[in-house]
Amino acid sequence: MNIGILGAMREEIVPFLDKFENIKEITYAKNKYYKTTFNNHTLIIAYSKIGKVNSTITAIVMCEHFKVDKIIFSGVAGAIDSDLKIGDLVYASKLTQHDLDLSAFGHPYGFVPESKVFFETDKNLISTLHEVSKDINIPIKEAIIATGDQFIASSEKKSWIEQTFGANAIEMEGASVACVCDSFDVPLLVLRAISDSADGQADIDFDTFLEQSAQVSAKFVYELISKII
Ligand code: SAH
Repeated sequence: MNIGILGAMREEIVPFLDKFENIKEITYAKNKYYKTTFNNHTLIIAYSKIGKVNSTITAIVMCEHFKVDKIIFSGVAGAIDSDLKIGDLVYASKLTQHDLDLSAFGHPYGFVPESKVFFETDKNLISTLHEVSKDINIPIKEAIIATGDQFIASSEKKSWIEQTFGANAIEMEGASVACVCDSFDVPLLVLRAISDSADGQADIDFDTFLEQSAQVSAKFVYELISKII
């Protein structure tokens, strides 16, 4: 089996890469992919760079060029729910693009014709995720994740996204990766540790907690992969 491990930023994949020796670096479409083996299975690890376009490119390369059978996204996110604290782990049950707006034509936010507002993630991976959570005694929460090409650092924007999509967490890559995985029928899991509260303080919190929260997510993904293969 080939498994793709995807992050947006270097900090999100380094804690995962550090667990492996014998990593082969491959450059493809101007991005780096790190190939290694784990229990006779192949892992393709990469960070896409931030945002929907970059993550779309990397997810497509993983599916089409590296022929991955699953993608697991590991990274950080801003909290929309007030009960989500920095370091808490969430997984996406479904994801949407909060900045996709054809409302002038009467369409709901997040919708374009012939597509859908929400993309779901893989039920089997989610059930394995729950088993791992029990095994290692680290709680995970289900979340609707809203994705857009904006770092949200405003209580007003945050509450608009919450009211419009019922979203619990916010980031900049998940829904685009979900859209790619839906098109290629590749099972996807999106796991994120909270780095900030998407409010006026978000930029400061993000810089303070990025590495710590990215490690929380990467550690969990490592346990998950160990269980899958
Ligand atoms: N500090 C970086 C920019 C980080 S952008 C720089 O200066 O270059 C934030 C990244 O973390 C994105 O990959 C996004 O997916 C996630 N993220 C965390 N908190 C977020 C928030 N409040 N809004 C949007 N994305 C957030």
